[in-house]
Amino acid sequence: MALQLTSKKVCVIGGGAAGLVAAHELRKEGHQVVVFERGSQLGGVWVYSPEVESDPLGLDPNRKIVHTSLYKSLRTNLPREVMGFRDFPFVPTGKPNRDSRRFPSHQEVLRYLEDFAEKFELNKLIRYQTEVRDVRLKEGGNWMVKYRRIGEDDEGGEVDEIYDAVVVCSGHLTQPRIANNIPGIDVWPGKQIHSHNFRTPAPYKDQVVVIIGLSSSAFDISREIAISAKEVHITTRVEAKGIFGQHPVYQNLWVHPMIERAHEDGRVSFQDGTEVLADVILHCTGYKYYFPFLDTAGAVNVDDNRVGPLYKHIFPPTLAPGLSFIGLPMFAAHFFVLELQSKWTAGVLSGRFPLPSKEKMMEDIEAFYSELEAKGIPKHYTHRIHDYTDPPGHFEYEDWLATQYGCPLTEDWRRRMFSATIALVFKQTETYRDEWDNYDLAIDTDDGVFKLFS
Ligand code: FAD
Repeated sequence: MALQLTSKKVCVIGGGAAGLVAAHELRKEGHQVVVFERGSQLGGVWVYSPEVESDPLGLDPNRKIVHTSLYKSLRTNLPREVMGFRDFPFVPTGKPNRDSRRFPSHQEVLRYLEDFAEKFELNKLIRYQTEVRDVRLKEGGNWMVKYRRIGEDDEGGEVDEIYDAVVVCSGHLTQPRIANNIPGIDVWPGKQIHSHNFRTPAPYKDQVVVIIGLSSSAFDISREIAISAKEVHITTRVEAKGIFGQHPVYQNLWVHPMIERAHEDGRVSFQDGTEVLADVILHCTGYKYYFPFLDTAGAVNVDDNRVGPLYKHIFPPTLAPGLSFIGLPMFAAHFFVLELQSKWTAGVLSGRFPLPSKEKMMEDIEAFYSELEAKGIPKHYTHRIHDYTDPPGHFEYEDWLATQYGCPLTEDWRRRMFSATIALVFKQTETYRDEWDNYDLAIDTDDGVFKLFS
């Protein structure tokens, strides 16, 4: 007997990469889709703006939110081919005024998302400048979505609509998380800022800057600032061999262990016994998952940056399949993960792929949490999907989704290129974006990059 598929009325929250690919896959599966986007254009975090928030640390709950966390000079930290959707490869277009580099600028990523939306006519599904304010389950199993238009002459009134399902694609790299356990920080007189509000190095000229964190943002920003700052001091919890001390290329850049104490007279001392008189502390300490519009009556919580309980990082067992989250995983081949999550979610909503019972989903989640605990992976790394696979960087999660959907597993070239990039970042830290001739391994493969470029 042929499978009877159901078409649902689905609300997608967010018009970034996740919302776009979710809308595309949902519509392909036969659902009716409305995308709510509070900004005036698609692309989410890739819509660069020189504007920063009024509170540089992002602590004031009443501040006007600037969604993007991009700095002006940003180039991707993954090769474009690895990042891209499978159904719409992220390859050079050959069009004028485009960036054909393998690690392109943020403008090129935005153009790619715009091309994707144009090709699949997604624009007509999006309601721009429309902010979702409240989402909750109604009796009978439908979802109430309350929103308001935020256009210039349309400020105010909230409107309710009813949907069969809500797919949350609101992003998670906008709400700063700061290092707040530094002794003495309350009386330290200098300026503090989170990388969310860093755009250009100009304000740091001739300053002594302490950067907390060793992520890709900390890495890029420290180099950029070092060109004109007096001194840059990176401080990190990471204890890898050989990372501490003065940088061999940037002579005014040092790496230290964590801050021991900040002092009233402006000094910052580190756990290695050294200290500096600093002007600025720049927190490159990541972001918090944050869903202020979502009322699940406790069914989904953010606990130490773990969003849960969620089956496969997507479905809360007690509210599935009506509520789902696309895009929570981190440190992955991001757009590719979003695409696979979207395919499977669209199929679950239509009834093509049945979910296990609530109890079985909860068992799976608990087993997953126990596995993380046994491996010593902290709760706040729950969604860093490549950290807990064995070996790290293995595409287990992506392959699980692909298997559910019935599409090919992660391509061999994508795996190899991803691993090669990580290895290269360690080997050629300063030049990995422009000198990547060891990619011949990836290029050599049968289903590989040459084909994509041809
Ligand atoms: P977002 O792009 O954040 O989109 C979410 C959208 O939801 C936004 O448009 C927002 O306006 C909208 N929204 C939020 N709340 C509401 C609401 N209540 N109502 C209506 N709309 C709402 N990834 C890579 O693959 N490679 C990289 O090199 C890379 N570099 C990065 C560098 C930086 C500095 C940052 C911050 C991220 C980087 N990323 C990178 C990760 C990037 O976040 C993802 O690639 C991806 O773009 C996230 O897409 P998203 O749709 O999940 O979220």
